[in-house]
Amino acid sequence: MQKHTGLPQAFADLGVEVRFLKAIGKMNFVDPSDIQLQMIPRGLEGRDILGQAQTGTGKTAAFGLPILQQIDPAGRLQALCLAPTRELAVQVTGELKRIAEFANLRIVAVYGGQKVATQLHLLGHKPHFVVGTPGRVMDFMRRGVLQIARVRFVVLDEVDRMLDIGFRDDIREILSQATGEHQTIFVSATIDDEIKRLAQRFAHNPVDIDVSQDRLTVADVDQSYVTVDAWDKFRLLKLLLKQEDPPVAIVFCNTKAGARKLAKRLHGAGVNAKEIHGDLVQQKREHVMDRFRKHQIKVLVATDLAARGIDVNSISHIINYDIPPDSEVYVHRIGRTARMGAEGVAITLVTSEQGKELTNIEKLINLEIVERTIDGFKPSTPREELQEAQAPPPLSRFETPVFSNGEAAPAKLPRRTLGSRFRPARGRRRL
Ligand code: AMP
Repeated sequence: MQKHTGLPQAFADLGVEVRFLKAIGKMNFVDPSDIQLQMIPRGLEGRDILGQAQTGTGKTAAFGLPILQQIDPAGRLQALCLAPTRELAVQVTGELKRIAEFANLRIVAVYGGQKVATQLHLLGHKPHFVVGTPGRVMDFMRRGVLQIARVRFVVLDEVDRMLDIGFRDDIREILSQATGEHQTIFVSATIDDEIKRLAQRFAHNPVDIDVSQDRLTVADVDQSYVTVDAWDKFRLLKLLLKQEDPPVAIVFCNTKAGARKLAKRLHGAGVNAKEIHGDLVQQKREHVMDRFRKHQIKVLVATDLAARGIDVNSISHIINYDIPPDSEVYVHRIGRTARMGAEGVAITLVTSEQGKELTNIEKLINLEIVERTIDGFKPSTPREELQEAQAPPPLSRFETPVFSNGEAAPAKLPRRTLGSRFRPARGRRRL
């Protein structure tokens, strides 16, 4: 086999051409990841693929390299990749552009939230490869400015998430319009019956590639959980952030409102934190992500959807402020750290009522998550916490309760009785 001095030989051995070896060498790729080892040769053979791989395993290059290499630079639009979110679409486009740096190919992202006119302009440059979210892709198809009938490559990235978000019908419609002969690649962190059905209908005898088995969570992630009462979560998080002092962390919340509130409280407590969730306008999201990438923001408070496609390699800590209701979401979340073999820490806050969720996660990842305690943390009763966090605002002149003798009555805290039911999650789960 021909030797390519100074270029990543292991990729050359898979059949990658010099124009791409130069680019990935520049990106510091030396050895292919598991998914790349399996997917690149099959992709280059022209096989349809159903690939199971989680975020951070190098899946973009795994489908990107074989497709980019097969594109004819003299031709028109040849490849379409659908992605669930704008962040992922932008991230994938960025990665493909880096890979194609010396290949003279035009790659364009189309996604909701950015001006249609801007993207129309980009489409006018006759891209070879379009990466987009299904909604915007459909929009452009209906306007007649994006014709996919003759594309030669179709990729569905994070297809499980696209289905979760409700892109089912859009995906079906888009795929059914790619009527010319083409190679189809599905990539998904999890593969269920619905994805299999889609693959059977739209892919031709796909080869199954699964690098997720036995390591559903990245092995290098140091995973633990802390048992905490709901009313103590914020105090515990503050202490945790102080003690761990993570250089780059994502704190996950289950809801947009929760993320907004938490970011505000952290900010108020002097933590360099910012929120990212679906309610922020696109420009603001991009601005936050840009600052996070440059390490100008230490703690990103995120919801799951907004965090899809966060392309920051050096995330040191994932903190699940809210344990995800769905175990697979846990896998997605912690896949944000320990990318490409780096070490990462994942800590999950669990209340005594959430033992079942924790057990479900452990079953899925086939691993016991260890419990840890936070030095110096003293659980409070809900009453103390109420006094600390919600010290009642001074009553207005009109609201001040007054005794019949004219003296003001002392303000009372509402009665709460939650404290007596506290039980550590682990103990409860073993009942
Ligand atoms: P992905 O799973 O495609 O989101 O990739 C995660 C990150 O790993 C990206 O920043 C890639 O540039 C990087 N990456 C992908 N493949 C390799 C490789 N073989 N060696 C080193 N880094 C890689």
